Amino acid sequence: MSNPKSISVLGSTGSIGVNTLQIAAKNTDRIKIKYLTANKNSDLIISQTQQFLPNAIAITDPQAFEHAKNALKNSSVEILFGKEGLNEIASRDDVDLVVNAVVGKSGLEPTICALEMGKDIALANKESLVMAGEWVMKLTKERNATVFPIDSEHSAIWQCLSGENQKQVNKIILTGSGGPFRQYPLDQFSSIAPEQALKHPNWSMGAKITVDSATMMNKGLEIIEARWLFDFPPEQIEILIHPQSIIHSMVEFVDGSIKAQLGLPDMKIPIQYALSYPDRWHADWEKIDFTKLASLTFESPDLNRFPCLSLAMDALERGGIYPAALNIMNEFAVYAFLDRKILFTDIAICVEQILSLGDLANWEINLQSFQELETVAKDILNNIEKQCCK
Ligand code: NDP
Ligand code: MG
Repeated sequence: MSNPKSISVLGSTGSIGVNTLQIAAKNTDRIKIKYLTANKNSDLIISQTQQFLPNAIAITDPQAFEHAKNALKNSSVEILFGKEGLNEIASRDDVDLVVNAVVGKSGLEPTICALEMGKDIALANKESLVMAGEWVMKLTKERNATVFPIDSEHSAIWQCLSGENQKQVNKIILTGSGGPFRQYPLDQFSSIAPEQALKHPNWSMGAKITVDSATMMNKGLEIIEARWLFDFPPEQIEILIHPQSIIHSMVEFVDGSIKAQLGLPDMKIPIQYALSYPDRWHADWEKIDFTKLASLTFESPDLNRFPCLSLAMDALERGGIYPAALNIMNEFAVYAFLDRKILFTDIAICVEQILSLGDLANWEINLQSFQELETVAKDILNNIEKQCCK
């Protein structure tokens, strides 16, 4: 057998990060964990460090950093601090693959750092592509690197496109469960509580993406992600609601033939494929038993019910910095909703407001603009918070 693949796991304490490490633990002859990073969960990264013995770890939160430094003082692991530490780990050259499982806008800089070094990335952090898809994919090409998607829909599309001629694709059909509020009374949307939005019918995931799934912003972010990953124009990407989450996406070809990728809703499958590619590794997790599947159903997305979906399509259409503005505003709004400072329905209102700022059209796409967008987004959020929940 060849040498194990050495990897870094950015965001190792999150839902994707933990699943990645579980796969690594079952495949110690194939994967060597070299670096880990966390934000606040020092207890978990301490135990992960003791289990996987990485060369170095980075922790962005100051208190968590102090705690881990103290707890690991007798170990030889190097402990880096802050955003700089995270970026340094992402830039380390002695790995074969960087798994980016950081959530939200904080995942963009590590993506850029890894690509600058010509490293291949297994990318869960869809926000990197939403904010800077053109930049990220250009850099990928320039540095001769590859981005392997972890997002289940994009893993499905990647697998369906394998061996095919891109020019003979009619359309990509991106499936989505429709989330917990697909049939919830529309007149009660404004009173949806965080606990309700955090209950996804099929998938177990981190808080931000679970709320994004409830507003269906997640599907909007995924159209933008697919647009850049696979280089298809928005007109060739269609959304289809499939509540059972068994078909993870499909590709229709010019002859009317359709390829689909299926599996139980478990992120370990797409994560492992991104690690094992071009191979497939034996796995003992539960497989589909077709005789036990009651039915697979499909419907069109309801844009009236889920305005975030049309806002994302609108941002993609406008291009430039608009998708980044959408992403940054959405992220602030989601956390404000989770903190009960705004209503569920205010998330879309915030995003609509930022997209209606006409002068964004001339903004350049770079890290400084993203920083400035954060200030704009915070102002919008402050105003909405003042009106809400008084
Ligand atoms: P989680 O919230 O579970 O985990 C996020 C990870 O990022 C944690 O390790 C967290 O550290 C770390 N983190 C949080 N904030 C920061 C920050 N400011 N700087 C550095 N690190 C930070 O998220 P998920 O695992 O659910 O999602 C990760 C990414 O994968 C997201 O982009 C999501 O959209 C995408 N994704 C997730 C899926 C899923 O099933 N979960 C499916 C498809 C895509 P700590 O916990 O220590 O605070
Ligand atoms: Mg997905």
